[in-house]
Amino acid sequence: MNERDSEIIAQSLMEQGNIETYDVESADVIIINTCSIRAKAEQKVMSMLGVLRQKKKLRPDLKICVAGCVAQQEGSQLLERMPHIDLVVGTQNIYNIPELLDKCNKEGRQIVTSMSDSYQIPKFIPEISSLPSSLTIAPFKKFVTIMQGCNNFCTYCVVPYTRGREISRKKDDIIDEVKVLVDAGVKEITLLGQNVNSYGKANKVTQNDSPYSFPALLEDIAQISGIKRIRFTTSHPKDLSHDLMRCFRDVEVLCRQIHLPVQSGSDNILLKMNRKYCISKYMEKVDALRSYCPEIAITTDMIIGFPGETDRDFEKTMDLLEHVRYDGSFSFKYSDRPGTKSSGLPDKIPEKIKSERLSRFQKRQNQISLEKNKGYVGKILPVMVESIDKSGFQGRSEFNHVVHVLSNISFTNGDMIDVFIYHAGQHSLKACMPEDAQKMQT
Ligand code: SAH
Ligand code: SF4
Repeated sequence: MNERDSEIIAQSLMEQGNIETYDVESADVIIINTCSIRAKAEQKVMSMLGVLRQKKKLRPDLKICVAGCVAQQEGSQLLERMPHIDLVVGTQNIYNIPELLDKCNKEGRQIVTSMSDSYQIPKFIPEISSLPSSLTIAPFKKFVTIMQGCNNFCTYCVVPYTRGREISRKKDDIIDEVKVLVDAGVKEITLLGQNVNSYGKANKVTQNDSPYSFPALLEDIAQISGIKRIRFTTSHPKDLSHDLMRCFRDVEVLCRQIHLPVQSGSDNILLKMNRKYCISKYMEKVDALRSYCPEIAITTDMIIGFPGETDRDFEKTMDLLEHVRYDGSFSFKYSDRPGTKSSGLPDKIPEKIKSERLSRFQKRQNQISLEKNKGYVGKILPVMVESIDKSGFQGRSEFNHVVHVLSNISFTNGDMIDVFIYHAGQHSLKACMPEDAQKMQT
């Protein structure tokens, strides 16, 4: 989400005649788009701001802007503590950065962190020709924001505070954006929201006076001619409906891959996290997903060492790992975030225990990922070419594996090519062209 926001910021500045640079030394304006989801992300921002203090001393005309979640969270304290910052811009104000920088030039330091419950995501259609090359992920795959904010208030999470109330973007704006992208040659779209399953609910998106939901949006996007792949992230398990699960079976261009964050394998901890599901319900959804689409790749997020997490709770997390056998996971040590309920909970887990549990979890996950990846060896999978290298190309499977392919045929980024998988690693697969398969097997 931050990557997409950074792209929006850069693009809106470039539309005003600014030029992007990779070189901090030659920049007139530096914008740090920040994340505060975990303590570590915020520490990175603070240390980068420390380095920029020296640059501003040497070049007082340099403008430094802090945008995004840390800006929203810290607000005026940032300006007070760091006199070298010129502009602080909250999450709902990033679209106004060009005007705010002008104001800053004329009137001095500015802060805008207003948030409104009736915020609407602007209709901001990317001009492919003016996309910032340093920030734009491969031009054949793009992120499209469909929602902002979150109403779930998981007790550990800052998002409802830093990004505000959940709001769904207008259906027509989304479709128009996807059409512009696909017409410009984009092949793969990833739809973004904190909880895409509840698209259209909080601010009631309708079509012909009936509720318009995420599965309907997926089906409409899938109809756009030229689109090759659709992905989405993230889905809250409590809102994962059968209508959406069925899309993995019925919508051909929807990649058979879902990120379904569970956060813990223990019902006690899930309750304290306010996740609003228990493991048996979660497993019902995993089983249903697999019954609609047996090949689906499932990944998750896991928080290790939530306050009060006992050895028993952690063992339940390890049990869940064995049960679901995730294709991959992102696991994090719990960290207190300002203003969240869990930051006030007793029984914080010592760092040493969190680290031990995390490494045990990750070790087992890596083994499982490798075992699952080995299941693809000997198969032919379509991959989308993402970059060309000396020995062939690198691409991605619909299941989201990185695939290194040996080939002497020349392809173009964005091409969809059938390849033969001959080797599996923990984080990637190796492949060759199907006609060379026999050679690789012997
Ligand atoms: N909306 C998504 C999550 C977005 S935040 C969802 O509900 O699934 C991305 C991930 O950061 C979360 O899934 C969680 O695993 C992690 N995270 C959030 N707050 C955290 C905290 N205080 N400490 C550690 N990890 C955290
Ligand atoms: Fe945070 Fe929970 Fe919302 Fe995800 S669903 S953004 S974890 S509050």
